[in-house]
Amino acid sequence: MSVSSGSLNPVLNREFDELDQQGRICAEYIWIGGTGRDLRSKTKVIDKMPESPDDLPEWNFDGSSTGQAPGHDSEVLLKPESIFRDPFRRGDNILVLCSTWRPKDDGSTVPLVVEEDLTKVAGVSGNNTREAAKEIFEHPKVKEQEMWFGIEQEYTLFERDGVTPLGWPKGGFPRPQGPYYCSNGAENSFGRDIADCHLRACMYAGVKVSGTNGEVMPGQWEYQVGPCEGIESGDHLTLSRYLMYRVCEKFSIVVSFEPKPMAGDWNGAGCHTNFSTKDMRDPATVHEYTPKDGPYKGEKLTGAWAKMIEALEKMGSKSAEHLALYGADNHLRLTGKHETADMHTWSYGVANRGASVRIPRETHKKKYGYLEDRRPASNMDPYVVTSLLAKTILLDE
Ligand code: ADP
Ligand code: MN
Ligand code: MN
Ligand code: MN
Ligand code: MN
Repeated sequence: MSVSSGSLNPVLNREFDELDQQGRICAEYIWIGGTGRDLRSKTKVIDKMPESPDDLPEWNFDGSSTGQAPGHDSEVLLKPESIFRDPFRRGDNILVLCSTWRPKDDGSTVPLVVEEDLTKVAGVSGNNTREAAKEIFEHPKVKEQEMWFGIEQEYTLFERDGVTPLGWPKGGFPRPQGPYYCSNGAENSFGRDIADCHLRACMYAGVKVSGTNGEVMPGQWEYQVGPCEGIESGDHLTLSRYLMYRVCEKFSIVVSFEPKPMAGDWNGAGCHTNFSTKDMRDPATVHEYTPKDGPYKGEKLTGAWAKMIEALEKMGSKSAEHLALYGADNHLRLTGKHETADMHTWSYGVANRGASVRIPRETHKKKYGYLEDRRPASNMDPYVVTSLLAKTILLDE
């Protein structure tokens, strides 16, 4: 792999950054590309700061160059959905997260579905998955429950060669896992510059980032985005990934969102998805539920707690369907080892990091709060995962 050298000349760059833009604005239009993992963008110079995405013009790109359209009919439309501040250009410049659409002959548009999708697997695709998710989150029964998500995005940093994780000896292995998680010190922590610069970039941009920490495998890190409500979760997580690619580009470091970047006795990377409905968060919720299965089988449960266990039972009945959409190559990660539940066994438990879903101890103690689905892979599509949870828990589908 050949990797960009980042900024060619940071000092010169800064000189040009200081030039006055004559009131004009750079809008970086961002979209999810053909593999569902690549993020693409291009710049539009506009004359007026938009107050909302509706003030921004639609745009288009050559879908045949991103694996999203055939060459003979290559135009894909970009619809601005969400605006963030641009931490790279700063000033009156913005990042514009867009959804992708196909024009029809009658002048209407439909959400992009990639016809010859070579990479579409486990919910990760170059399709517009946002629109279907939005419909679910706009359903009155879902809207009313103000569903929150907090996603823990794990990622792995690689040297410029693209094959050596940061901190690993070239062609060899570091000391076994143990000292690296939340570590400090030159011998254990590799790539804090990236984690910290990314955190700052997210905060500046307006991404609802909530923390970061070093992970169990050396060179692996995590940050959390949330709580976000509904479709906002997919938007903010997608933008946070874009910012990660951009920060890494500056440092000439390669980031991977793959769930098992290093085979063997090394932790994989996930996207634990924490979630709650209004009823789960509210200690005053009135509800009764007697589970037919699981650890509370036959017990008459009440309140927010009953809502949570009922949601878990619903999730259990859909476990295989959900897993099939929780990210590509997730089977390499969900082995039952390295703090995961194995792919074929559904389980939930209090403070259990080997379960499919963990009930945080605090939630169990208070009998209201949130739950953590530990199964989604680091490369999952957040629009797919969050909307599936909403659909199963609130729409019984
Ligand atoms: P872990 O203990 O598994 O490492 P983290 O602290 O990394 O958990 O992440 C927890 C995530 O859950 C954070 O993004 C946080 O904002 C989010 N969160 C907190 N409360 C709620 C809630 N009520 N509903 C949904 N998400 C929540
Ligand atoms: Mn061109
Ligand atoms: Mn975490
Ligand atoms: Mn983690
Ligand atoms: Mn977690």
